[in-house]
Amino acid sequence: MSLPRSRIWFLTILLFGSSTSVQAAGLKTQNIFLIVSDGLRWQEVFTGVEEALLNKESGGVSDVQATRDKFWWPTPEARRQALLPFLWSEVAQEGQLFGNQNKGSVDTVTNGKNFSFPGYNEILTGAPDPKIYGNDKKPNRNVTVFEWLNGRPGFSRRVGVVGSWDAFPYIFNVARSHLPIWPTWEPDQRKYAIAAPRCLAELFQDTTPQWGDVTYDSFMYQAASDYVKRSRPRVLFVGFGETDDWAHDGRYDQYLLSAHHVDDFIRRLWEQVQSMHQYRGKTTFIITADHGRGSGPENWRRHGAGIAGAQDDWLAVIGPDTPPLGERSNCAPINHSQIAATLAALLGEDYRAAHAAVGPPVADLVRGGKSL
Ligand SMILES: [Zn+2]
Repeated sequence: MSLPRSRIWFLTILLFGSSTSVQAAGLKTQNIFLIVSDGLRWQEVFTGVEEALLNKESGGVSDVQATRDKFWWPTPEARRQALLPFLWSEVAQEGQLFGNQNKGSVDTVTNGKNFSFPGYNEILTGAPDPKIYGNDKKPNRNVTVFEWLNGRPGFSRRVGVVGSWDAFPYIFNVARSHLPIWPTWEPDQRKYAIAAPRCLAELFQDTTPQWGDVTYDSFMYQAASDYVKRSRPRVLFVGFGETDDWAHDGRYDQYLLSAHHVDDFIRRLWEQVQSMHQYRGKTTFIITADHGRGSGPENWRRHGAGIAGAQDDWLAVIGPDTPPLGERSNCAPINHSQIAATLAALLGEDYRAAHAAVGPPVADLVRGGKSL
């Protein structure tokens, strides 16, 4: 039987036309990890250690030769590979990295504040909130994509948060969202706490802190890894904080070392999920920072509305539905208000249908995706 040409076109559109809509694209992603290294600059991500800061005067480096031996190479490609080997092997080959402004790829935050609470809010809700003026621990009035997904079929009680900063219970508004979280810092948050291994809970309590409001990234990695093993969340936030605090402290050597550790924690989480049936070949990692920082001998430590360049950021994605385009260059700019809808789209969910004001998914990160 032969069909009239118009009929064939109609059937073709019926069968394949909808493949540009993300939900119908047959995506493989069933689990998402959103991993943030607080205030890690795009400059280090794409060019590795900066020689002008590799000293005592500007970078507060305690052992210049040791830091140089570990991270210094003559080319940006070799330097970034030494600093962040997982990003520049696995992610660069199998995923995508946005934000190398030296190559015409720009990723920015749009909140105008360029510090953490507004930055996480933008990433997690898909829109900047001009009413968030500070890092104050106030329950977020906005619904995060995590809280929204937790209410969607198939995601209930499969969404969790591990984050090193004492503001995270407020950013995710656990009192309203009831998302499980670790660690908790205040007695009335305890009912939402993820049960961490006893040894880890004791280390968190007993270790003399470097900072009052942020704990150690190694604890975050252990907590996330254990939570994945025991509770198998489909959507997991992992917030690392040391990169920002060592930078504020003016310790470029420790900033580099903590970035290097974060890269290795991500590698180990990636290898862990590839060894588990629920996750293998069905998990996407979205990796980013909540804001950039300034540049130069003083301002590399700082960020905020008045610091030039602190809006500049980066985004790396690896997973079965992200075409392996590697380091992006000469492409359309993207911004952090697009991350929430991209995360949802990779799971086949349309976050914009529920929250119209949010940024659209980054189409290039979702196989077959145009935009929802
Ligand atoms: Zn900061």
